[in-house]
Amino acid sequence: MIPAAFEYQRATSVDEALALLAEHGAEAKILAGGHSLLPLMKLRLARPERLIDIGRLDELRGITELPGGGLRIGALTTYATLLEDPRISRLAALADALPRIGDVQVRNRGTIGGSIAHADPAADLTAVLLALDAVVMARSAARGQREIPIDGFFEGAFSTALADDELLLAVVVPAPSGSVGSAYQALDQQASGYPIAGVAALVGEVTRIAVTGVGDRPYRAASVEAALEAAAARGSEGQEHAIEAAVARITDGVEVNGDIHADPEYRAAMARVMARRAIELARARLG
Ligand SMILES: Cc1cc2nc3c(=O)[nH]c(=O)nc-3n(C[C@H](O)[C@H](O)[C@H](O)COP(=O)(O)OP(=O)(O)OC[C@H]3O[C@@H](n4cnc5c(N)ncnc54)[C@H](O)[C@@H]3O)c2cc1C
Repeated sequence: MIPAAFEYQRATSVDEALALLAEHGAEAKILAGGHSLLPLMKLRLARPERLIDIGRLDELRGITELPGGGLRIGALTTYATLLEDPRISRLAALADALPRIGDVQVRNRGTIGGSIAHADPAADLTAVLLALDAVVMARSAARGQREIPIDGFFEGAFSTALADDELLLAVVVPAPSGSVGSAYQALDQQASGYPIAGVAALVGEVTRIAVTGVGDRPYRAASVEAALEAAAARGSEGQEHAIEAAVARITDGVEVNGDIHADPEYRAAMARVMARRAIELARARLG
């Protein structure tokens, strides 16, 4: 449980962090809350030569309301800060997910940026941010700032669209437009709290269904969305049989994970149950 030797540098500004990433990107890792990276280093599953600690960069912390009602959430904003912010209640799926993550210690240290950049295939917020159609703000010294739509950000297990020299600055969550309701439901693995299957749903004028814990990365369940939209066109979207027929497609095109906690068949069945519950709860919240 002792990590391999590494260099440590604490960045005193975003520009300094970017300069360090430009110089050492491929061999370095950003250190935010440390609750995913440090356990991996202790198990020697990760051996970065250098840690660039961004933990004291207050400019990466906090929640800003944007014109139109969207929220810009700084990368270093912790789960605990999000939980305490009354504006989060507008994003019901996010409010559902936050208290489920880890325990008090994890929520006090873990950051939204760390969760997204780490891209654990079973992280809770990834599915929620897919359903809310978030945008990731990233910056590098060489190429400046860019916006990455969350749908496409996750490229595989622990793999994202971020380049080695890029820092994740913030996540922008647009205000839900029109009449929509959202919800997140998950079956947690009891010891770790990570979802065996978690589903975030946004329904109403827009339909987005996103899944975590099931495949090699979080994903939008396009065929479920299409089936719900087809049912809406027929006027039957709220009916039990229409929801059951739609959620039957929750793992379409996905190679379902199997492990000691859940074999693929059970995990797929739980994904269907969580999808049905999330859709029904989101529908009940339609405003
Ligand atoms: C006991 C325990 C239980 C947990 N349970 C859950 C759970 O139920 N659900 C869940 O979703 N998660 C869970 N987690 C994980 C937790 O949410 C992590 O804190 C989070 O995933 C990572 O955030 P962090 O700030 O700790 O990131 P770190 O560990 O500091 O970093 C994680 C990775 O992201 C990179 N990174 C971090 N910030 C940036 C940035 N701004 N720009 C570029 N790269 C960056 C790092 O280089 C590293 O590769 C648990 C963790 C523990 C220890």
